[in-house]
Amino acid sequence: MTQRLFQGVIGELEETSLGAPGLASETWDFFQTNPNEDPKLKEECGVVAVHGHPDAAREAYLGLYALQHRGQESAGIATADGQHLANIKGMGLVSEIFTEDVLAKLPGSMAIGHTRYSTTGDSALLNAQPIRVDSTKGLIAIAHNGNLVNLGNLRTSLERAGAYFQTTSDSEIIVQLIAHSSASSLVDAIADSLSQVEGAFSIVMMTRDRIFAARDPRGFRPLSMGRIRNSDGPDTIVFASETCAFDLLRAEYERDVLPGELVMVTEDGVTSRQYATGYPQSSCIFEHVYFARPDSRIFGRWVQESRDQMGRQLARESGVPADVVVPVPDSGVTAALGYAEEARIPFRMGLIRNHYVGRTFIEPEQRVRDFGVRLKLNPVHNLLEGKRVILIDDSIIRGTTSRKIVRMVRGAGAKEVHLRISCPPTISPCFYGVDTPSKRDLIAANKSVEEIRQFIEADSLAYISLEGLLKSCDGNGHTRYCTACYTGNYPTQWVDVEDILPAAAAI
Ligand code: SF4
Repeated sequence: MTQRLFQGVIGELEETSLGAPGLASETWDFFQTNPNEDPKLKEECGVVAVHGHPDAAREAYLGLYALQHRGQESAGIATADGQHLANIKGMGLVSEIFTEDVLAKLPGSMAIGHTRYSTTGDSALLNAQPIRVDSTKGLIAIAHNGNLVNLGNLRTSLERAGAYFQTTSDSEIIVQLIAHSSASSLVDAIADSLSQVEGAFSIVMMTRDRIFAARDPRGFRPLSMGRIRNSDGPDTIVFASETCAFDLLRAEYERDVLPGELVMVTEDGVTSRQYATGYPQSSCIFEHVYFARPDSRIFGRWVQESRDQMGRQLARESGVPADVVVPVPDSGVTAALGYAEEARIPFRMGLIRNHYVGRTFIEPEQRVRDFGVRLKLNPVHNLLEGKRVILIDDSIIRGTTSRKIVRMVRGAGAKEVHLRISCPPTISPCFYGVDTPSKRDLIAANKSVEEIRQFIEADSLAYISLEGLLKSCDGNGHTRYCTACYTGNYPTQWVDVEDILPAAAAI
């Protein structure tokens, strides 16, 4: 467990054309401890956009609140009122940053928002989003979910062309490409810029009077469009990484932004163009396995439905006699329900998650250092004692957390512990916006399933097959998924991300 001195700054109002004063910055030092010795793969980012609402900042806030699971490191909201563009971002949770006072400093009927876990660039406030750039094409704010993979080449050629980067975030490359595009109109410059970047991006952008939303040509990350019907005026158009945000906004889901599509919303309505065609779809299957909320519909399918099918498939592929099916909460719950129903074995919440363990845990004393997983999960002894238990989890990354959970269940009196995983063995890192350890730290890249079973001390271990996972996530038979972290077959032509290139990755 690492312990380090952490310095944080919360609440920064960028200098805006409103001439508003900066928020007082609060700086503190404290010893921060990560309670997740072997954390799950880190969420990527969540984006929202709102056009045509008198309190757009609050709508964006609500949308981000619903997307908090996609990133808890920093958050930001930029608003525009037709003339000016304000932007506030800070470190921490959405509800910590955006108080009433802060929201009051964000006027306008348009907003974009972002909640972030960093995958490239460092995690400082500097790289929090939205990023606002005053370019030759005017003020542009951008919020990006995903990861570009041809950063090095683009950044170098842009710097040679005179670009001055404010951040180390890959998202700024898109704005700099727009600023340096020779296209005559803004929408052409955006299309031109997007066609030059390779990798994963679902983005929302805003100028003083327009909102743009776009997805990369392979559609790695989700992005949906919704509508709030207003009886006394034009509809409010909203975009969000996941449809669960629409529920809080009381917006109707309208459709997904298509891979390679650029949507523009102005006072005159919604227009769209396909800036790239002919790429095979590669939507991230791990969104269905773990990232997205079960109450979201992504890539045309309810996440709940996919996870239920994963559990059923696991039961068919690797069923074992047992007394109870127990999920590792929260992400394993839906798959465990499917498994239990298919196998006709009782489902029990044999592990309880403490929802009040934050992203960090401030250690009062040294002796709690070994708490690790026990801070987050606790066994329900009377449900586990003397039982043959099937544990359902969504992934094994390094294996150390799985071993602790298996030990915990056995320590609570379980007679047998059988671990079932609702994705195939993770053998390769992700370059498209998911923070994966390098190949040498991925247990499945270095050990056989039997060796992993021995390491985690389970009585049996089985993963869902790749075919089974694809079947579980493909309701309409048309969706094509990226499965590179299970196969090593990357859908983009090249990977050029020096910052995150794992030493041992064999790509
Ligand atoms: Fe998703 Fe894995 Fe592909 Fe990354 S490599 S986009 S996590 S499926």
